[in-house]
Formats: sequence, C-alpha cells, structure tokens
Amino acid sequence: MDLGLADRVAVVTGGTSGIGLATARILLEEGARVVICGRDASRLKTAQDALEPVRPGHLLAVRCDVLKSDDVTALADKTRAWSGGRIDLLVNNAGQGRVSTFSETTDAQWREELELKFFSQVLPIRAFRPMLDASSSPAIVAVNSLLSLQPEPHMVCTSAARAGVQNLLKSLASEFAPRIRVNTILLGLVDSGQWQRRFEARPDKAVSREQWFTTLARDKHIPLARLGVPDEPARAIVFLGSPAASYITGASLEISGGVSRFI
Ligand code: NDP
Repeated sequence: MDLGLADRVAVVTGGTSGIGLATARILLEEGARVVICGRDASRLKTAQDALEPVRPGHLLAVRCDVLKSDDVTALADKTRAWSGGRIDLLVNNAGQGRVSTFSETTDAQWREELELKFFSQVLPIRAFRPMLDASSSPAIVAVNSLLSLQPEPHMVCTSAARAGVQNLLKSLASEFAPRIRVNTILLGLVDSGQWQRRFEARPDKAVSREQWFTTLARDKHIPLARLGVPDEPARAIVFLGSPAASYITGASLEISGGVSRFI
C-alpha cells in the first residue's frame, strides 16, 4: 500500500527519542520531509546524526520546548522558511508521564502535569494550523495514553490530564473538519526513554534488563506478554497521519499489546 507520503512535510515534536524518533525515521523512509524538535541539544544532535543518512537533506532539527510559546513560534517560523509555508502532518508526541498517587501529588505538580499535557497540544496546533491549512490533505496525530480511558491510581494526574486531552482532540476533530483530520493513538507500555529511565532507577541493581521488563509485562497483565517497541506505535502514527487514512478522523487507535479491559 502506498501511504502517499512522498514529499509531504511532517513535524514531530519530541522527535529525538523513543516513539518520536522512530516516527521521524519511518516518515523519512516513506519519502517525507521531516522536522523534529526536543529540549536537549545533545539528544537533538544525536537524533539528527542518526536520521540525516536515512534521507539526506530532508530533515530539519530544531531545539524547542513545546511548553514555551516563544520556542514554538520560532519552530513554526523555521519550519515555514524550510518547507515553503506548508506542512501536511503534525505529530504531537513530546512529553512524559508522572508517577504519583493523589496523596503524593502537590498542587504545583498538578499544575505542571496539566500544563504539559494540554499545552503540548495547544501551542503546536495553534502555531502550525495555518501551515496545515495550506496542505491538500492535512492531519494531526496526537500521542496519548490508554490511561485516558483506563486510569491508574499510581499515575493519577497523568491519567486525569490525558482524559481531558482526549476530550479536547475529539472537539478539534469536529472543529477542524472537513479540512484537517485529527486522530489519537492510545499507548499501553512502550519500551522507550521513559521506561529505560525507570529501569535504571530500579532499587535492585542485580535485576537484568530482560528480567525487569519481563516481570513488568507480567505484572501489567499484557496479553502479548511484552512491552511494545517504538516502531510499533510509530507505524500506526505514520498510517493515521498519511493520505492513506483519508476517511479517518476523531478516532483513537489502541497500541497496547491488548492490555485494555473494556470493549
Ligand atoms: P521518550 O522519553 O523516549 O521521548 C520523549 C521525547 O519528548 C523526547 O524526544 C524528549 O526530548 C521530548 N520532550 C519531552 N518534553 C518535551 C518538551 N517540553 N518540549 C519538547 N520536547 C519534549 O518517551 P516516549 O517515546 O515513550 O514518549 C513519547 C510520548 O508517548 C510522550 O508524550 C509520552 O508521555 C507518551 N507515552 C509513552 C508511553 C510509554 O510507555 N513509552 C505510555 C504512554 C504515553 P527532550 O527531553 O530532549 O526534550
């Protein structure tokens, strides 16, 4: 199947690690021109060095914190100059989760988490909408979590914030129709930077990586018996964001190894 991505322009926030990096690589392999961003300059450089050979001359890497409106405006300006004023796909992927119960979470942490989850969508969407409007088949794909529908008490503010984001994106799918398609993916557990950091912080350093991840998959009752790898959600993001998904909007696709408990 031809996804129709040749010479399309895609922006992937948080494209320097994990799912965002895999998404950027697959988009390049499919013939797209790709913009990535992240906050950390050395991670950005490493990602740029890894991606540039995939399709030389088709990558723009920009340092940007998606929660800072000046950064996002500068990202949009650089993208506009590089792409000629049009983008076809915005992948809102940048972010991380917070592990804490209601008792442990301070007001400041609640505000930080709500800001991260909402403004990592709001600021890029506002900045890139005019460039999406210049496309013949524009799309937004947001990376969200199964926590939005199936909350976990040990990730209370992430779960609540993600539910709100899911609601926001459903509204945008209507408001932006019929011009811009808006879809989400709902992740279970994917072995990426976040989980690597949690593995490195394990209390018992004698536990190997394989043991730690196998136990995690068992404890989380994942039917496919493992965590996902970044390419797995990335392939879904690329499909939903491509012209091949032209009649899909307002949808959410679960990429979780079957971990949801609802119908
Ligand atoms: P990684 O930590 O591997 O990647 C996160 C990426 O986001 C990095 O490129 C990071 O770069 C960037 N980022 C984080 N905050 C910002 C910011 N404020 N501005 C710009 N870039 C930012 O994690 P994943 O690949 O797993 O995460 C991708 C998305 O998937 C995240 O939104 C995450 O919350 C979500 N998710 C992941 C799950 C999983 O199991 N892996 C489960 C549910 C949701 P830098 O730090 O340099 O800014």
